[in-house]
Amino acid sequence: KNHHHPSSISKVRVVLRIRPFLPQEISSINGSPISCVSLQESEPSSDEVTVLLKDQETSRNECYKLDAFFGQEDNNVSEIFEREVRPLIPGVFEGYNATVFAYGATGSGKTYTMQGSDKLPGLMPLALSSILSMCKGTESIVAISYYEIYLDKCYDLLDPKEKEIMVWNDKDGQMHLKGLAQIKVDSMAKFHEVFSSALQRRKVAHTGLNDVSSRSHAVLVVTISTPSHDVVDNAVTGKLNLIDLAGNEDNRRTCNEGIRLQESAKINQSLFALSNVIYALNNNKPRIPYRESKLTRILQDSLGGTSRALMVTCLNPGEYQESVHTVSLAARSRHV
Ligand code: ADP
Ligand code: MG
Repeated sequence: KNHHHPSSISKVRVVLRIRPFLPQEISSINGSPISCVSLQESEPSSDEVTVLLKDQETSRNECYKLDAFFGQEDNNVSEIFEREVRPLIPGVFEGYNATVFAYGATGSGKTYTMQGSDKLPGLMPLALSSILSMCKGTESIVAISYYEIYLDKCYDLLDPKEKEIMVWNDKDGQMHLKGLAQIKVDSMAKFHEVFSSALQRRKVAHTGLNDVSSRSHAVLVVTISTPSHDVVDNAVTGKLNLIDLAGNEDNRRTCNEGIRLQESAKINQSLFALSNVIYALNNNKPRIPYRESKLTRILQDSLGGTSRALMVTCLNPGEYQESVHTVSLAARSRHV
């Protein structure tokens, strides 16, 4: 709906997804179970939905306006892919950049949405597989990079030593990640091989540390290059960034100290900077505050301008306060 409307070309779509309860949660929920429903399901002319979030214990509730809502069905990831991500892919072949974020608290389903599991692929493998099949019979070449931003530093997850990557602007203001590995991928088997060994390394490198993987932003970049025959030695190149953001935290609720507090401050700062950038883009502000965090600096060429972006906000159905905190930031960044 309205994906191709010209005036929405540089807007960032903000959609909401709520995961189902897990079997082990049915008996032991910590927070308050919520109900989350879309109030405008049957209004096809509208390109926004109003979502009602209700605390089932106290009946407290809040309403938010967003671009789309994906309910609690067992797996709504393939639906998000079909309706929200697949439409971004043709543009990447034409040289436009696109970015998909999973945003939400730890435990809300971000990694499930982006990576998925062997049985149920997430948006990363779904996008790769769709891109690879579109490449068949063409001269397009696909390569991936995979990096992590932790405490505002960028680490190459495809490099066996996970070396730190420096970010710099060239004289034209273009952003570069110096020496970031790029691996050519021509089949899903190759993708799974490269990706799973990166995940394995990431796990080993972080052993003993406190769940770094949910406290860092993980960025998979899929680059598509197609040789151009108009200009010799030139290619049309587009990037799709697929990002599993660090868990959004409500500092009023968590009692973090030391490194945890430092991490938490950096995470909140970068998520807030991201929400400020999306707000500025969606409201046609003259100045977009890209430079407020490492994350938004790196993504400058893939957010706004001719790029398209999608924020998939994820909710845990057992957490009312946390969900309100998450959705209010998402809804705030979306529109006035
Ligand atoms: P996050 O990355 O946001 O911390 P996870 O993706 O790890 O959260 O999800 C938390 C738990 O919920 C995991 O056990 C995951 O498998 C499960 N989960 C998330 N979404 C779904 C879903 N749609 N269906 C079933 N289980 C889900
Ligand atoms: Mg995760």
